Amino acid sequence: MARAKIPEVKFTNLDKVFFPKLGFTKGQMIQYYLDVAPFILPHLRDRPVTLIRYPDGIESEKFYEKNAPKFTPAWIKTFAVDRRHTSGKTNYIVINDAPTLAWCANIAGIEIHPFLHRIPRLEQPTHVVFDLDPGEGSDIRTCARVAFLVKAITDSLGLRAFPKVSGSKGVQLYVPLNTKTNYAATSSFAKAVAELLQQRHPNLVVAHMAKDRRRGRVLIDWSQNNISKTTVSVYSMRGKRAEPFISMPVTWDELKRIKGAQALSFTPMATLKRLKKKGDLFASVLTLKQELPKAFSANFAPRSPALEGYEAKRDFSTTKEPKPIAARRVKQGAGRFVVQKHAASHLHYDFRLEMDGTLKSWAVPKGVPTKLGDKRAAFAVEDHPLGYLRFEGTIPKGQYGGGTVMVWDIGTYKLLDGDYGAGSLKLLLVGRKLKGEWHMFKIRSRDDKDVWLIAKSGQAVKPISARQDDSSVLTRRSMARIAKDNDATWKSGRK
Ligand code: MN
Repeated sequence: MARAKIPEVKFTNLDKVFFPKLGFTKGQMIQYYLDVAPFILPHLRDRPVTLIRYPDGIESEKFYEKNAPKFTPAWIKTFAVDRRHTSGKTNYIVINDAPTLAWCANIAGIEIHPFLHRIPRLEQPTHVVFDLDPGEGSDIRTCARVAFLVKAITDSLGLRAFPKVSGSKGVQLYVPLNTKTNYAATSSFAKAVAELLQQRHPNLVVAHMAKDRRRGRVLIDWSQNNISKTTVSVYSMRGKRAEPFISMPVTWDELKRIKGAQALSFTPMATLKRLKKKGDLFASVLTLKQELPKAFSANFAPRSPALEGYEAKRDFSTTKEPKPIAARRVKQGAGRFVVQKHAASHLHYDFRLEMDGTLKSWAVPKGVPTKLGDKRAAFAVEDHPLGYLRFEGTIPKGQYGGGTVMVWDIGTYKLLDGDYGAGSLKLLLVGRKLKGEWHMFKIRSRDDKDVWLIAKSGQAVKPISARQDDSSVLTRRSMARIAKDNDATWKSGRK
């Protein structure tokens, strides 16, 4: 690290191997970021970031670091964001200079994922992103074909789009705006383009995440255009493949001439050589001012950012599940709850709490515990609309969560203590089966999914009998009966 002159940062464990196949070390990773700093910093400026940290290299556990860690030194710039989809605050790192970049690399932040907005204008994305994600059986060549389909549409609207490879398997297109807009406009625009292309090219494009339809096709993930989402930065290293490939801007010409499935993979050395020769192909993304078509710019009805994850996973022309509508009135510290027994690829229970106008949701494989001190894993999943409270029936096969859903318990809850954002909820449940106190707490974030535990606190309750366990509190039907009826009901109005 002879060349590193960053007095603020005390580098550690430089010889630790991060990419075992090549013996590529943490020191080499840090050196790459120092060398690429002049090119990456303008793209990161004033954007809060999420780091993906790999403390022991790419073959060990990684985690998404949204909050600046407790040991973050005072000289690192951070920005506290009140995330609307949680009730807590997240203190994001902002990488505006080489020392901060070096510090992030030193804490094993191999991947840097900035938001699409800059502080303090959190509502205003600077660009639209089309994240082209190849399903099984397709690859970067399929993505390149789809990229040209998107380009044909943006070209026809007089909008310039700039491609980059993700450094993993996909391609991302950026449409710079750098003008007044909001996420309701950009996500609606991206969704309209994705759905149009799915309609025109059903064998090549999917606009929603339902898994069965993705084989051999490319998902145009429009839902990345969201105030809560980040996209990997240009010139960020990736930890997804055996080699330290870089997310790299490419030319349309390079995408057209793409050959093998491994084409357009850039090592750190190739990246630096290429930058010296070609400069920053994404320089215009920072400055070019463009506007979306009028239909997407004036008074666009805001979507519910918290429910876009839910919407993106479902095709509402196929499933009878409730549409993603968020409630306007928001109660604090109390609300309704539901436990749904869900026979999907695996049998599990979904635990949902009414909060901030949607249902905070967890998948609890073993169900809510009844014995004092028993703890069960609860995997956080995307927020669901309130309409889901009384959803019972069948989700079509092949759709996300395809299978049978029973309303296993329903009732109200009171928040005795804690806070969703802080990762601790002391709950009093008053349901038909579950009555009493439970404690939920977050134990870790893995792959962008938070893992919680749900524990019985207060006093033990009577165990649930097998008969109760197989009976809907709404219809008294068994799982087998619901499956046989093959319908979908969600009764409204009852409180
Ligand atoms: Mn489920």
